[in-house]
Amino acid sequence: MRILIVEDEKKIADFIRRGLKEEGYAVDAAYDGEEGHFLASTNEYDLIILDLMLPKIDGRTLCAQLRKEKISVPVLILTAKDQVNDKVAGLDAGADDYLTKPFAFEELVARIRALLRRPEAAQEVHLKIKDLEMDLLTHTVRRGGQDIELTAKEFALLEFFMRRPNTVVTRTMIAEHVWDIHFETYTNVIDVYVNYLRKKIDRGFKDQMIHTLRGKGYIFK
Ligand code: CA
Repeated sequence: MRILIVEDEKKIADFIRRGLKEEGYAVDAAYDGEEGHFLASTNEYDLIILDLMLPKIDGRTLCAQLRKEKISVPVLILTAKDQVNDKVAGLDAGADDYLTKPFAFEELVARIRALLRRPEAAQEVHLKIKDLEMDLLTHTVRRGGQDIELTAKEFALLEFFMRRPNTVVTRTMIAEHVWDIHFETYTNVIDVYVNYLRKKIDRGFKDQMIHTLRGKGYIFK
């Protein structure tokens, strides 16, 4: 899952970015509305966290602009004060939810999870394919009843695979949803991580779940 934060207060933006990265999300940050608009219209995000008071283009205008451009990504608005008018204006502009600053990080994560729980994606918190189970709330992975320790990135990668079983997953898809904008596409980082993950979930088991499709990407089954 890849998230964009548009927030001019660098401290807050960095705090959110760091925290979400630890949760396994890929996160980009923009520090004004114009940059936010540029990133939102050139990348495929799963969620945008949008501050209202922003230089160049304010959050409300930006949100309305994205909706006008048919960019339907869920938008979570951050408001500096508990101002009812701001919230209403934001929701009117097409935002999906709002959060008042200051907020507890756990609350932000809970809101994000709720927003990502789109019906078509069946965003369940418990994923199971064959004997491999993943609990997104407790961040635990088990195969054949055995606990498997994954890093945040490996966890995000596995979640991405488990939501797309029996489907060709290209490196571009992985790069766009599991890594952030600083990802260098010419590196073999994805292959390296897939191999880490493969060692952890497939080693010692008869059925391999991650399969490489030469020249195409991967298939998880
Ligand atoms: Ca601001």
